[in-house]
Amino acid sequence: MIGLECHVQLDTYSKLFCSCPTKPETEEPNSACCEICLGMPGSKPVLNKKALDYALKVALALNCKINEKFFFSRKTYFYPDMSKNFQITQYEIPIGSQGFIELSSGKKICIRRVHLEEDPAALVHESGLLSSSYCLVNYNRSGIPLIEIVTEPDMASPQEAREFLDQLTMILSYLDVFDFENGTLKADCNLSVVGNERAEIKNVTGKRNVEKALEFEAKRQLELVKQGKQIVRETRGFDEKNLSTKSLRKKETEEDYGYIFEGDLVAFELTKKKIDAIRKSLPELHSDKAKRLAKEFGISEYDAKVISGSKFLSDLFEEFAKASSAKTANFFVSGVFVSIAHYENKEPEEMAPRLNVSQLKELLALFEQNRINEKALKEAAIAHITKGKNPLDFIKENCLFKEASSGEVEKIVEKVLSANPKAVADLKAGNEKSLNFLVGLAMRESKGKAEPREIKRIIEEKTK
Ligand SMILES: [Zn+2]
Repeated sequence: MIGLECHVQLDTYSKLFCSCPTKPETEEPNSACCEICLGMPGSKPVLNKKALDYALKVALALNCKINEKFFFSRKTYFYPDMSKNFQITQYEIPIGSQGFIELSSGKKICIRRVHLEEDPAALVHESGLLSSSYCLVNYNRSGIPLIEIVTEPDMASPQEAREFLDQLTMILSYLDVFDFENGTLKADCNLSVVGNERAEIKNVTGKRNVEKALEFEAKRQLELVKQGKQIVRETRGFDEKNLSTKSLRKKETEEDYGYIFEGDLVAFELTKKKIDAIRKSLPELHSDKAKRLAKEFGISEYDAKVISGSKFLSDLFEEFAKASSAKTANFFVSGVFVSIAHYENKEPEEMAPRLNVSQLKELLALFEQNRINEKALKEAAIAHITKGKNPLDFIKENCLFKEASSGEVEKIVEKVLSANPKAVADLKAGNEKSLNFLVGLAMRESKGKAEPREIKRIIEEKTK
């Protein structure tokens, strides 16, 4: 049985309870903090309205019931990453509860709760120093708004957990509330073999690592059960290098944190009007989008689903489909681009910084005009995405234009020669410049389809 607690960073300008920037202009540690996010005596937190709106969007998109009255609590613990000695979070009443995400098999994974909380500071372990020497604290992160999404232990395999996370990040990307660039998804993963105690793997970063950590943990626990040994309730850490988990500490329970009401913040009450307005503002989500793309662009339902699987892909598709045909855009996005991303072991959105959309539009236009074939399109796209090469230059340098047949080239050359008797006479008199002039004319006449070398050869032959 697998349950996940997922943390994602909301894409707001300021922190959750103060006006410090979430993306400070300088990387200088401890430059983006104030008395509120440091917890100085007398400082009063104020809830970021945008963060609340975003949290409501997420809760509604995950089919949650919205709790119209809610408040914040203090989760008390001592650790250098939390200068206040407590974290402001939601415990008793979260913003949303009882939601679900449906997997492709039709199985519903229930979402227990969706709540807002502040991120602790970042602890920077200096490498190259003795591990016991010291560790630095950067409070720039402290107070960054996070949303926590907690599932019921409904997933039965690491693969199901992965699919859940794929669906979740897809929904978040459509909502446009998640800061993909600055924060990856982090999850605490709970896993147990039915009838036994559970272990929690803390703070696993990224979807792939979650799947790997769960695979290791499932194997480990099943092996223990097989040997008749007991599984202890504990917190474990994931080792990315060895793809294994190791024990960190005996598991504390939520009650151990001694939650108390955060008296510096008011209790909140949402009006029905506000909830309805947020509900209406929800964008077209993937299943609606897949249907629309199939209908509007006449692509297959399967391709429409692949493309709608990521907001980034579908935006890219629509942009290319406007510039060339839907058929070419679909071939490029779901055929060429997705397989390059797979090969590079990256999510499509992670490839975004490598794409020059206007250069790719030129490439697709060549394909559309039948001046290059599929192979040339793919090779140029690979060179562009993996090496940053301008695809048009790549096509030119590697002579990947479809060549006009030599019969056609010959006709073009004859036409050019008979229209330019003076240049022909000059050439015959030994003027090299007129050769280049005639080659240029013939190239233009062939609309770039013919090879310059071939044209030169034919001209030389005919003017001997
Ligand atoms: Zn602050």
